[in-house]
Amino acid sequence: MLRTAVIRSLALLLLVLCGPLAAATVDGVRLWRAPDHTRLVFDLSEPVSHKVFPLDNPPRLVVDIAKSTLNASADNLDLSNSPVAAMRSGVKDKTDLRIVFDLNSMVNPRSFVLAKNQQYGHRLVVDLYDNEQKTVKTVEDVAGVTGDRDIIIAIDAGHGGEDPGALGPKGIREKQVVLAISRELKTLLDQTPGFRAKLVRDGDYYIPLRGRTHIARQHRADMFISIHADAFTKSSAHGASVFALSRRGATSETARYLASRENQADLIGGAGSVSLDDKDHMLASVLLDLSMTATLSSSLDVGAEVLRSIGGIAKLHKRHVEQAGFMVLKSPDIPSILVETGFISNPGEAKLLSNRAYQQKMARAIFNGVSRFYEKAPPAGTKLAARKPGSGGVHVISRGDTLSDIAERYSVSVDDLLRYNGLSSTRIRVGQRLKIPTS
Ligand SMILES: [Zn+2]
Repeated sequence: MLRTAVIRSLALLLLVLCGPLAAATVDGVRLWRAPDHTRLVFDLSEPVSHKVFPLDNPPRLVVDIAKSTLNASADNLDLSNSPVAAMRSGVKDKTDLRIVFDLNSMVNPRSFVLAKNQQYGHRLVVDLYDNEQKTVKTVEDVAGVTGDRDIIIAIDAGHGGEDPGALGPKGIREKQVVLAISRELKTLLDQTPGFRAKLVRDGDYYIPLRGRTHIARQHRADMFISIHADAFTKSSAHGASVFALSRRGATSETARYLASRENQADLIGGAGSVSLDDKDHMLASVLLDLSMTATLSSSLDVGAEVLRSIGGIAKLHKRHVEQAGFMVLKSPDIPSILVETGFISNPGEAKLLSNRAYQQKMARAIFNGVSRFYEKAPPAGTKLAARKPGSGGVHVISRGDTLSDIAERYSVSVDDLLRYNGLSSTRIRVGQRLKIPTS
């Protein structure tokens, strides 16, 4: 009895002595450079309270983390292009961790904590916004409203930075595969008269889901294409799919599963509570009912064209455009589709998706679907609309095209098409370029 009491007091004494000592550890530091800010991420053993503030002369950033010790090094951080010159650490008030970043230029810091999830433990995120605001190219955008303009396609490579997306065998990461396909798609569109592509993400950094549609709107995009390569619990799941937004429910269980996975990206990639634009959200909700119906019908149409094209080069998961509640597809005014290029959790498809030639093939298939959609119904005021009917130009044959369809589309006769291109039969092949006679 007495012994127990002594042990208890000893334990209490130890607790009192050790109590104020460091309780949490910082187990990792990562840095992601985005076009307008630098994101620092600290892995934490448990939730902590923290303070972040800048100092000048010389410019520094101080991150104080209460009752913690540093168990990580900054040696492997790629600081190139970032305002961070060096990182050092020390102890503050005996128990707190102070990390000091030496900066090349002053920044506006913002910080938030992320609770642990399936992929990561507790994290502290510090965003260092560049002081110098880059001027937006408004002249180009405004000029695009009048006269003959290009059709602008916003290409959204899913995930990035903290959020690797689906993980495949041999370290294949969705964020890398989809960026590669997105860049190939951009090249194809930019090479095609009448089209211009903008990459929503052009590097290894994370953009919150609402931020992605916001960037598309800033570019006055006519269409938003989000590119993904997903994973499923069963490695046998395979095939590409195309999704449009569903306003109520998802058309299949897989669709529901994938939508919830993709929508979780903000928890993994780190939207935080500070970067959500509530006003935009309010406006979007109001506009949603007004224009969503028309937009959704265009999304389904372009989705069907893209799916048909992809069907020519890859196995399809479903033969129709699926619908699910993907956050990135919720632009009320921009037709939006999400392309799952394959299952990265399937070893065969993972191998294909990480292959450059296959990435180009996939990009070409998406491109063919998009261009076929716009050739059928080019938006008013665009170069493509001005070109038809009978205004000449070149038509690239896509899978499913027939000579009579093409003739009808450009208001010319099949005979004229044959004669103008020096063809002796109506047989055409995918990828063939047909000159369209002026009428
Ligand atoms: Zn994804």
